[in-house]
Amino acid sequence: MSTYYQRKEARIQAAMATLTINTDIFGTFALVPSTSKRIGVYSVTINETGKVPFAERCTCPGNAEHGCRCTHMIATDRMFLRTSMYVFRRMQAV
Ligand SMILES: [Zn+2]
Repeated sequence: MSTYYQRKEARIQAAMATLTINTDIFGTFALVPSTSKRIGVYSVTINETGKVPFAERCTCPGNAEHGCRCTHMIATDRMFLRTSMYVFRRMQAV
């Protein structure tokens, strides 16, 4: 038996394990495979205009149609947080 938040956390972890960060002429984006029963890969647009990159929007129905902060965006943001924390720890260690 698991709670809603435990199941959501499992989907975020699954998304983090499978997403890829990419760049094209329009900027940086993450490709995140669906973590529900739907088949597909969603594209998360990453805003890099500030000091910290963040997930701006996603092509999944949850965000594109309903404006929800979806699992794909949360996973993308956590990916950048994890990367920046890793760099920060390396800087501290030197
Ligand atoms: Zn999404």
